[in-house]
Amino acid sequence: MPMVKCSFCDEKAILVRKYEGIRLCEKHFLRSVEKKIRKTIRVNQLLRRGDVVAVGLSGGKDSCLATWFLSTIRKKYNIEIFAITINEGISNYRKEDIKCAKDITKKYGIKHHIFSFKEECGVTLEQIMKTEAIRKEKIGACSVCSVFRRYILNKKARELGANKLVIAHNLDDECQSIFISYVRGDISRALRLGSFSPKTEKSMFVRRIKPLLDIPEKETALFSHLKNFKTFSGECPNAKKSFRWKIRDIILNLEKNYPGTKYSIIKNFEKIRKELLDARKNSTPKICSICGESGSGEICKYCQIMKLIKSD
Ligand SMILES: [Zn+2]
Ligand SMILES: [Zn+2]
Repeated sequence: MPMVKCSFCDEKAILVRKYEGIRLCEKHFLRSVEKKIRKTIRVNQLLRRGDVVAVGLSGGKDSCLATWFLSTIRKKYNIEIFAITINEGISNYRKEDIKCAKDITKKYGIKHHIFSFKEECGVTLEQIMKTEAIRKEKIGACSVCSVFRRYILNKKARELGANKLVIAHNLDDECQSIFISYVRGDISRALRLGSFSPKTEKSMFVRRIKPLLDIPEKETALFSHLKNFKTFSGECPNAKKSFRWKIRDIILNLEKNYPGTKYSIIKNFEKIRKELLDARKNSTPKICSICGESGSGEICKYCQIMKLIKSD
């Protein structure tokens, strides 16, 4: 078979980007991904000089990439960065990831904080999933996990003095979240999507930013591999049972048949989100009556689940 050449030089192509109609060699691939991340940050004004930035670092490919990338621009933006890792208490699976998280922060000189479900909330994910009330309500492990993770990440980022919180969601993650919020009619959640969560006065939410939003999952994986981030490639044992996983399949299938679908989804959703945000401009953010954190209802999702656990 003849060698497939890069669209920009004579080197061998390692990736065909159907959605852009180009082929990329290793050098041009790496360069292009970095350029895209820089553009996402610049166009959406994700960072400002003097920001204190917390990175949610699970230790997987995406969050390692985000952490590394931030370390390369911290001087330019004059930002302070630190990483937060949450240990959910999923046996075996998390141990590897936490090791990767430790390695990468050490290598790039980034302060690293680890918090566990057990210490922060008094229970591990496995214990939560065994409670009768959670089973009765049919709340999936991934839903519980993401509510708890989001709650602890936000709280710790705020307590540690961050004014921005980096979420290493890639293009595929974001498309899935858009679909899920649509299927569930979860408008509050939909409003918080996008590259930069909206600013809300008096809110206890640390603004979430997503610098990897324009990079497909396949490319964050290839990038991390080429950069030699020693990430653990195992999937969370709960992921394949989740609703998100089904949505993931649907979107991958669409993209395969119609290259560029994923970019259309996030671009067009942004138009809807802007309209919704404008319509809601004058409504005050809801504060949870139990914990005082901001949430989407009278009682936040975290406290709802905690209530169920305690009632068991
Ligand atoms: Zn090239
Ligand atoms: Zn609450």
